[in-house]
Amino acid sequence: MLKGTFPVEKFKALQTPFYFYDIELLKETLKMVTTEANKYGYHVHYAVKANANPRILSVISSFGLGADCVSGGEIQAALNAGFPADKIVYAGVGKADWEINLGLDNNILCFNVESAVELQIINELAAAKNKVASIALRINPEVDAHTHAKITTGMKENKFGINLSLLGKVLDEICTLKNVKLTGIHSHIGSQITDMSAFRNLAIRVNEIQDELEARNIKIQNINFGGGLGIDYYHPNHLPIPAFDNYFAVFNKLLQVRPGQQVHFEPGRSIVAQCGTLISKVLYVKEGEIKKFAILDAGFTELIRPAMYDAHHRMENISSDEEIEIYDVVGPICESSDVFGKDVELNKTHRGDLIALRSAGAYGEVMASQYNCRQLPKAYYSDQL
Ligand SMILES: *Cc1c(COP(=O)(O)O)cnc(C)c1O
Repeated sequence: MLKGTFPVEKFKALQTPFYFYDIELLKETLKMVTTEANKYGYHVHYAVKANANPRILSVISSFGLGADCVSGGEIQAALNAGFPADKIVYAGVGKADWEINLGLDNNILCFNVESAVELQIINELAAAKNKVASIALRINPEVDAHTHAKITTGMKENKFGINLSLLGKVLDEICTLKNVKLTGIHSHIGSQITDMSAFRNLAIRVNEIQDELEARNIKIQNINFGGGLGIDYYHPNHLPIPAFDNYFAVFNKLLQVRPGQQVHFEPGRSIVAQCGTLISKVLYVKEGEIKKFAILDAGFTELIRPAMYDAHHRMENISSDEEIEIYDVVGPICESSDVFGKDVELNKTHRGDLIALRSAGAYGEVMASQYNCRQLPKAYYSDQL
């Protein structure tokens, strides 16, 4: 949404801070991702952890996507939003018994298993219900995602997934278990990946893994590449819909798909990031010795990405057209990490102005907390204001 197109007059009547979702952009993005995936018959499961807002989930499920969940709560949220159970996959390094049971009771499509011990527990719990759980092994393909250290997951010695060197042992173990069925392999190498060579390397590595499995006479029905496609946080208006065409084309070009095999993806951020904006009000403009601080009524309790991942969000003063000045934009939380950006260019800013923090639809509202006894932010939608 271009500056100037936000409904500022309507915003003035609402209590800040709040999330504003551009539902038209979300739908355009979903149209693009499904069109591009359908070209190759690929299956897309939205990663619920990026944004579990019920309205957002129901729009996404209405486009026929599946859901990728990382907790029992997310499985429940996905079911509530209308995702069919046979399109729900469940990953996570620490699945509690009740969460596994919830997946079993609902006959979800697949458990993405991250360790040998977890395999045994799923087998036991499935046996108690006289069921056979479909499982995929989450493998660390040892592909460098070239992304922030706190969001890379596909390398060795990581809490996620099964190391390639241990794969043989795990496969031997599966043969001894009667209530799990190996139906797929899964990998997720990290997040906010903008360098397509990481995905190229991933597709090539998965070919090698498939060769190894076939040498052991194991045929795999599903290949799941996880999520991770990045977005442009610096230019949210330039290409608001990520290049899903290039992304899927990489896999189509390089992956050796066996007959009857299904290929799955789990994008989160790339679907929801650009449709969300955090709207906040300027409480004070504080003049320091050299710097000027714009102190907002939103802090890391509403949007933690800058404090947690050094993330950049574009900021716009949507109440002012005055000349550009430089501000440190900070929140009200009593922590020195509560800074949204240093030396940010904003139109001259006054108390009461509205500041838009762009590209906040992913890992924004869903990570909000009540630290400092604050209230969780509300959400508003472009088609319901
Ligand atoms: C977080 C996660 C995703 C989604 O990642 P994005 O970077 O938001 O696309 C997909 N799959 C798994 C297993 C995840 O943990």
